[in-house]
Amino acid sequence: MKELGPFNMKGLKENFADAQVSVVDCPDLTQEPFNFPAKGICGKPRIADVGGVPYLIPVVQKEKVYDLNTVAKDIELPGAFILGAGAASSKILGVNAELIPIVQTKSEKKPAVNGSYIAQINPADKGCLLEKYSSKYTDCEFGLLANLYASEGQPGKPPEFSACPLNTDEDVNNWLKFFEMKAPLICQPVIVSRDPGFDLRVEHTHCFSHHGEGGHYHQDTSPDSVQYLGYLLPAELLFRIDRPQETHLVGRD
Ligand SMILES: [Zn+2]
Repeated sequence: MKELGPFNMKGLKENFADAQVSVVDCPDLTQEPFNFPAKGICGKPRIADVGGVPYLIPVVQKEKVYDLNTVAKDIELPGAFILGAGAASSKILGVNAELIPIVQTKSEKKPAVNGSYIAQINPADKGCLLEKYSSKYTDCEFGLLANLYASEGQPGKPPEFSACPLNTDEDVNNWLKFFEMKAPLICQPVIVSRDPGFDLRVEHTHCFSHHGEGGHYHQDTSPDSVQYLGYLLPAELLFRIDRPQETHLVGRD
């Protein structure tokens, strides 16, 4: 076990009353509470920032559909185990939904295993509806945007797309539905320390749970008592795929 020095702790100490960082073995992710199709997040770690918020805001571009198997090839890691945060494919779902991607992409030897979740507004009670993607769909598609972490994986109608253009953060917040969720949540943050000018999303976190809640993480609602336990690996490479030609900074929270 290797302790990180005080320099590395600076940012954490500024944001958390108590923080500890150490290098440990990744827990077996095939076990509870994860139940992922791969054991770990190690081996050729890399990030893919695909599409972007400009494809959703101000006006949704429904033709923007991607496939995680193709992304795995694009980032030169076919068969990659992919985690992160993205939008569901509007071609498949027809409504706006958060995708919590957990996919062992296909390789020459094995077909893809899709352990993803989707979270959307429940048309029945307007609450949060979390479902296993594979309970309804068999593809590995997503739409509009995704922030993905890839490795070898070793050890109704809910609100439709906004009918009017979303021009400001206030417009976006009025359109989105916020829920206060119970712990524990299993979150999949993809974080970039700095954007060297690729129009990257520097933080994007989606979460799921075993109590029916999940979606896009916005912020702490109980900053005095919240606890985080994180297993993170620095990526060695970053790929920017289908970068929007026209961009803006609305809706990046
Ligand atoms: Zn999101």
